[in-house]
Amino acid sequence: MDFKHVTIVGSGVLGAQIAFQIAFKGFRVTVYDINDEVLVNAKVKMANLETTYKEEVAKAESSFEKSTSDLSYNTNLLPGLNQKVTDAINQSKHSVSSTLARINYTSDLKAAVADTDLVIEAIPEVAEIKHKFYKQLAPLAPAKTIFATNSSTLIPSMFAADTGRPDRFLALHFANEIWKNNTAEIMGHAETDPAIFQQVIEFAKAIGMVPIPVQKEQSGYILNSILVPFLDAAEMLYLEGIGEPEMIDKTWMLATGAPQGPFGILDVVGITTAFNIIENYAATTGNHQYDQLANLLKTNFIDQGKLGVSSGEGFYHY
Ligand code: NAD
Repeated sequence: MDFKHVTIVGSGVLGAQIAFQIAFKGFRVTVYDINDEVLVNAKVKMANLETTYKEEVAKAESSFEKSTSDLSYNTNLLPGLNQKVTDAINQSKHSVSSTLARINYTSDLKAAVADTDLVIEAIPEVAEIKHKFYKQLAPLAPAKTIFATNSSTLIPSMFAADTGRPDRFLALHFANEIWKNNTAEIMGHAETDPAIFQQVIEFAKAIGMVPIPVQKEQSGYILNSILVPFLDAAEMLYLEGIGEPEMIDKTWMLATGAPQGPFGILDVVGITTAFNIIENYAATTGNHQYDQLANLLKTNFIDQGKLGVSSGEGFYHY
């Protein structure tokens, strides 16, 4: 399948990043969200991402270009390698400044998916919201369109029937700060067509990701199967009054050499998504401590507009 047009549903923390990265790699992107007010905010996020890419990605690409041109000077006798180097440089030349021109915005779902090849859903981590959305989407998208969920912990088989095209539905899960943390976990469910799975792997490569094919359905894939329990453990220490976030982060960073502690990571993830995951877990396990944790995040952070990096304050100030 030749992917030309990709629709991103939800322009929050991850949706905005996914949209920018895909447009940066030269694809036409439509961003859909629930109303025009949210889309105004999405444009602000895209402008901020443009600055980030200029600072972090373009600089890395220019040093890549320099090192590869040195390499090509030294490899004049290897035309095949030279061609590969030239191709890599050309690939990296989709300049940051032309990215925004490839992104369109709409709050009309029918228009957003009218001729799209791939829909990537990045709406809240709440099963009911996703069920409702896929039922709404199913009759609007053309038969050719592949649907992918970016859900962190909800598995695709939960929504397969809602999509009306279970064979063309799977998970395509990105990590936060996609421009530098470039994994794409690809996970089907029992009815996903293996050919579609393979096409999505190729698409992930085309947008600069390292594809990670996950062999079996697993809530949290590989990354979040490790990360979510780690973050939960840190939050429990905080809930139980064992230590303050800064001290917990400091312990982890000093003792392991990690660049960030769990509360620093939570601020990047966004406290709303962390809250949704904990609420889901509280509901499915009946674990009362998770209810208390969800309540703490809601009262002390979400209700006060402290959503993490995206709002300028979470566990830390930005
Ligand atoms: P977010 O709360 O930042 O953004 C959600 C967006 O979806 C908002 O813009 C909201 O207006 C929009 N939305 C809500 N209902 C909608 C609907 N019916 N149709 C269209 N848009 C709708 O959430 P997020 O952190 O970006 O997470 C989105 C998804 O990505 C979740 O499934 C989450 O688990 C997953 N994810 C998040 C991270 C992360 O680090 N935040 C990482 C990987 C995956």
